Amino acid sequence: MGKRVLCCYGIDLDAVSGWLNTITGTPQNPTDLSRGIFGATVGTNRVLTLLSKYNIHATWFVPAHTAESFPGQIHKIVDAGHEIGLHGYTHEFVSSLSVEQQRDVLGKSMEVLKGFTGGKGVKGWTAPAWKTGREVVRVLEEFGVEYDHSFMHHDSQPYYLPDPAQTDYIETNVEKPASHWMKPMTALKPSSIVEIPANWHLDDWPPFQLSLSQPSTHGYVDTHVIERLWKEQFEYLYRECPEDGGSFVFPISIHPQVSGKPQVLLMHERLIEWINGHEGVEWVTFERVCREFKEGRLEGVVVEGGV
Ligand SMILES: [Zn+2]
Repeated sequence: MGKRVLCCYGIDLDAVSGWLNTITGTPQNPTDLSRGIFGATVGTNRVLTLLSKYNIHATWFVPAHTAESFPGQIHKIVDAGHEIGLHGYTHEFVSSLSVEQQRDVLGKSMEVLKGFTGGKGVKGWTAPAWKTGREVVRVLEEFGVEYDHSFMHHDSQPYYLPDPAQTDYIETNVEKPASHWMKPMTALKPSSIVEIPANWHLDDWPPFQLSLSQPSTHGYVDTHVIERLWKEQFEYLYRECPEDGGSFVFPISIHPQVSGKPQVLLMHERLIEWINGHEGVEWVTFERVCREFKEGRLEGVVVEGGV
């Protein structure tokens, strides 16, 4: 038995929703909204063609606003055999929502997405912008979500997600005596949610998306630079993975409004063909990783920390 590599494309179909999430309700720039429409239409069509060319089934994390605004596109994605996962309603940042608002958004999004999956249900969630909150795991468990793709305790192994609400961290607060905050964190406690880790260094948005309102984005990075960065991550993990029954996951996060651009599509083609030159590679959905991990067919790791 050789090594196994489970590669996944997580596709955030933010479309217009990401640009509508101005947090304060201030008006959005219609030109930015048009970039979202490009993503939901032209970008999505091109990414579907790319995946079909290489016979890859991916996981599309779809804000319910996108699903309700572009229903024909979501049907097309489902009909092509891809998985649909949760990603907020208008890409709201969980970190700015009350627990009640988190419940309302998750409940509504789940109801909307279930309408597209023909009774198959929705198993996974990724936090918009990977901004989470202390109560997030409790809310996901309440709604029966099985896996998450927002945390970064590891970069290439699945694990049971520690519940942030069950670990105490004390923020540095210089208004108080130093003895107040000089305390270690308490022990991490795993939840029932499977984590398939997120990784900013396997994401197309920061290098390839120009956004004048987001200082972390660039937009003009040479695709060959990012191709090398992604390949080097794969190369190291592949080299270090034990030959006899070792495994790792390689979750890539992309957005049709970014990866649907010609120069980025060509990068994906080169990357997929290079990855496919390795023994033991399988392209799978996130749901498949979750299922294999829960059934003990994928080893994963246990995340430890705190006292
Ligand atoms: Zn997103």
